[in-house]
Amino acid sequence: MPDKIIHTDVLIIGASASGLMCAIEAGKRGRNVIVLDHANKAGKKILMSGGGFCNFTNIDIDASNFISHNPHFCKSALSRYTQWDFIALLNEHHIPYQQRDLGKLFCENSAKDILNMLLAECKKAKVKIHLNCDIKNIEKTKNDAFTVKTSLANFQTGSLVIASGGLSIPKMCASPLGYKVAEQYHHHIWETRPGLVPFTLQPHDKEKLEALSGISVESDVSNERIRFKENILFTHRGLSGPAILQISSYWKAGEAININLLPEHDVVALIKKRQYKQPNIKLKTLLIEMLPKRLIPALFDQETVDKPLQELSNVRIEEIAQQLQQWQIKPGGTEGYRTAEVTLGGIDCDELSSKTMESKKVSGLYFIGEVVDVTGWLGGYNFQWAWSSGWCAGQVV
Ligand SMILES: Cc1cc2nc3c(=O)[nH]c(=O)nc-3n(C[C@H](O)[C@H](O)[C@H](O)COP(=O)(O)OP(=O)(O)OC[C@H]3O[C@@H](n4cnc5c(N)ncnc54)[C@H](O)[C@@H]3O)c2cc1C
Repeated sequence: MPDKIIHTDVLIIGASASGLMCAIEAGKRGRNVIVLDHANKAGKKILMSGGGFCNFTNIDIDASNFISHNPHFCKSALSRYTQWDFIALLNEHHIPYQQRDLGKLFCENSAKDILNMLLAECKKAKVKIHLNCDIKNIEKTKNDAFTVKTSLANFQTGSLVIASGGLSIPKMCASPLGYKVAEQYHHHIWETRPGLVPFTLQPHDKEKLEALSGISVESDVSNERIRFKENILFTHRGLSGPAILQISSYWKAGEAININLLPEHDVVALIKKRQYKQPNIKLKTLLIEMLPKRLIPALFDQETVDKPLQELSNVRIEEIAQQLQQWQIKPGGTEGYRTAEVTLGGIDCDELSSKTMESKKVSGLYFIGEVVDVTGWLGGYNFQWAWSSGWCAGQVV
């Protein structure tokens, strides 16, 4: 019945992390809230996140864990609704979770626990969720209300919240709707690009490294701007793993990245010490103690690895250390939005209130979550931004 008009205090587009959090908070305030989503299920990204266990936040949240053209913007929301607030919500619902490396918090059972918790809170707050709903047109009418025409009905609302996320994983219902609405109201949008995304390799590297598929090594991966010490993973398409995903958000096309495969070692000192103690062992024997065996032929030729340590000159030892600790790879590109976990760029924070997420250009219009130019590191930061920004808007819509 597309001609039917449904009036509501708050209309939220996007029934996932940020949208559901906003809906819960607004509903708790007694506001009449409707959430629309074109997907056939709410919170698809929550369900697929963290390998099905949802890395829902991090115990160390700081503005420096976020990328934005306005690095101060996220501070207000993150300090008003913190990781501890979200953890308290989980505790209220008796959801078991565990801390993994680098302060990452994951569900112990399943990401479903988080989605079920949000849906239960929505139900308690009398939030209505309509799925399979295509948004056709958005208009601000004379009486200062928004009219949103959809495949289900026409909605009229005083507060319109855009929580439609970024462009990553179109198969999971990602769409550019949020950016289009922002454009319609003359908001500036910072160029978007895939973040937290695997690298593809140039043909000569791909040929050399393809055989390493499945190998994972704790490494220190850096460029001129940033450094991450986590695992890297060789795949049949290129490079992935947490350290690679992290640096991908700071990577510019054509740049090389540096990989230190032995970040805990002073390789020169180590080879020299063993050269003195065991001059006859082959370089290969020493390397196998520290690195996966399959990785070694990708780094050194057979003649080098078969050399007894005593035959290595100081210059050669320096070269070997450089190869292991300053291995430079120039990625061919990234796997793009098909596999990226997030979208960098987005709606310019300078045109939004950091306290409420309301547009400074159009009253009653709000943008929350990933559609905004705030992108977190890997480690639960993106969900925390979704919870925090959604919560802030939920206090005022
Ligand atoms: C594979 C994967 C794993 C991830 N793992 C983690 C993790 O463990 N920890 C972490 O912090 N972050 C993780 N992320 C990132 C995190 O999922 C997002 O940053 C977060 O979901 C953003 O929340 P959001 O509410 O802004 O947008 P989304 O969760 O993307 O939700 C947007 C909603 O809007 C709907 N929508 C979009 N377009 C339209 C339209 N045109 N009409 C109607 N509805 C529309 C979508 O269907 C969706 O339900 C992961 C992302 C991916 C892809």
